[in-house]
Amino acid sequence: PADRAPLLAAKDLRKQFGGLVAVKDVGFSIGHGEIVGLIGPNGAGKSTTFNLLTGVLPATSGEVTFMGRRIEKAKSREIAALGIARSFQHVKMVPEMTVLENVALGAHLRGGSGIARAILGLDRADERRLLREAERQLLRIGMGHLMHEQAGNLALGPQRLMEIARALCLDPALLLLDEPAAGLRHQEKLALVEVLRQLRAEGMSLLLVEHDMDFVMGLTDRIVVMEFGTKLIEGTPEEVRNSPAVRAAYLGT
Ligand code: ADP
Ligand code: MG
Repeated sequence: PADRAPLLAAKDLRKQFGGLVAVKDVGFSIGHGEIVGLIGPNGAGKSTTFNLLTGVLPATSGEVTFMGRRIEKAKSREIAALGIARSFQHVKMVPEMTVLENVALGAHLRGGSGIARAILGLDRADERRLLREAERQLLRIGMGHLMHEQAGNLALGPQRLMEIARALCLDPALLLLDEPAAGLRHQEKLALVEVLRQLRAEGMSLLLVEHDMDFVMGLTDRIVVMEFGTKLIEGTPEEVRNSPAVRAAYLGT
């Protein structure tokens, strides 16, 4: 229904580092099954916004509501459990382990405890359950054939998909991706777009920071443009592309 609340809503979200206001009273929302792009020049506050949404950093002020709950003070572990998962710009993996093991291990870590503790803390039943879940998520995104490869042997595209499979093990309603297309070959970008569209079709919402404008314009439903910590404009890819303010601030034309 049209009156359904958005999946996530940020209001007057602010982060100060000493005298620097990295995110300045920003508001935006992410709908159910919507792909939102977050773009802007370096230093605009995109990564800080990600860190605020995932509890990596505490907000100075403002509100974040996710599935009807206020999460701006929640810890990253709690936020992950509520259904917000993220991938990182730089792939984190154990190169000697298989793709399947990496996904299972990452799912167990949930961004928190160290690898040694994660391994030591696992009993056989936990391990089997994690491996089954990892396999399910790898199959879901078409990575079944690479499951038993050494992770270190993968090209960058499949490595990024491996990261996404790991995030999916948390069963998120919202997936945050930090520059998922950076450094990918054209074919790898196409494969990634296909996976992200599939996740959207399954009802998942996505927020992605991305510098590749073709990728952003072709994939997202809506784009939020940040500059100097503030929201410059928000609109459809078409609206953003045609905005004089964006062209001036972001594209430098
Ligand atoms: P973007 O991801 O859009 O490039 P960031 O969110 O990383 O921008 O940074 C926004 C501003 O906040 C920058 O000026 C950056 O130097 C500053 N900043 C980010 N993280 C920290 C931090 N932990 N301590 C101090 N300043 C920070
Ligand atoms: Mg950044």
